[in-house]
Amino acid sequence: MLRRFRLEEPESIQDASDLLARHGESAKVYAGGTELLLAMKEGLIHCERLINIKKIPDLDQVKLKDGTIHIGALSTHRELCCFPLLQERLPALVEMERNVANIRVREVGTIGGNLSFAEPHADPGTLLLVLGAKLIAEKTSSKREIPMERFFVDAYETCLEPDEILTEVELPLPPGRSGVTYLKFGYLERPSVGVALFLALDGAKKSIADVRIAVGCAGPTPRRIEEAEGLLKGKDFNEASRLIARAGEIAAHQSQAISDLHGSQDYKEHIVQVLLKRAFHHAYGQCQP
Ligand SMILES: Cc1cc2nc3c(=O)[nH]c(=O)nc-3n(C[C@H](O)[C@H](O)[C@H](O)COP(=O)(O)OP(=O)(O)OC[C@H]3O[C@@H](n4cnc5c(N)ncnc54)[C@H](O)[C@@H]3O)c2cc1C
Repeated sequence: MLRRFRLEEPESIQDASDLLARHGESAKVYAGGTELLLAMKEGLIHCERLINIKKIPDLDQVKLKDGTIHIGALSTHRELCCFPLLQERLPALVEMERNVANIRVREVGTIGGNLSFAEPHADPGTLLLVLGAKLIAEKTSSKREIPMERFFVDAYETCLEPDEILTEVELPLPPGRSGVTYLKFGYLERPSVGVALFLALDGAKKSIADVRIAVGCAGPTPRRIEEAEGLLKGKDFNEASRLIARAGEIAAHQSQAISDLHGSQDYKEHIVQVLLKRAFHHAYGQCQP
């Protein structure tokens, strides 16, 4: 049962951050409420005050500026599926968002809420890692940029300070001759394993000029697998195809997979290898002119 709480409706970041600072652990940011209200109903989180940030203007904007896509933290999963700029320039993000949860959750759940909750079995963090995302966090007196690699600290834990609000996700536009793929597998409502891959080719030599690999959902937080990236970098398609099984073994080993309701450690490690191989061929196909 939902206990009584007070709803605050600030109209600026500063007022929202002041409320968080003043009320400490008894207050929480409220965006779409899809995680928060569920956790409160289950008695997993108790808070006396919800700070509804939906009255703060412009936090749901998506725009392109100087080669960077800026996604407001209040953008819902459904809005991100439908945004023409993203459909044209970042179809992998649109595809990922289309497959988050179910239509009811996508309609109100926000990208900022998804990232801030840091639930391990979530999709966006893994893809954002290979897209080179930066997150913008703001509070009353300051604004800072957090590289995606530093955002997640542990399951349900981020590096956000108690009075900070996640306001924006910044994504550089992928270069020409590049491909991005996010693949996931699961048999419950949320994914058991997610694998993301970004590839960019050197135009003349057709070798892999840049590669980023991330694995999510298997362990407590999504993570980059730099050793596997190093194995593929500089290789042409044939060499990389021969090495992809080894890259998969490294990714599985370094995914920090744990046994839980979504599968055993061995099972998740196997799925990582299968998905990475598929993602490689898919992303490479996108790099072709
Ligand atoms: C049935 C179900 C299935 C799901 N399946 C999937 C899935 O397949 N893949 C997937 O990725 N996710 C899945 N989710 C998670 C879903 O994506 C999130 O519930 C949603 O995005 C959370 O956003 P929200 O705005 O509702 O967050 P809220 O519930 O409003 O907030 C979540 C947490 O983040 C904090 N918070 C929210 N916004 C901010 C902010 N801007 N700054 C700082 N803190 C903030 C809140 O204080 C709270 O602690 C599922 C959820 C449900 C309920």
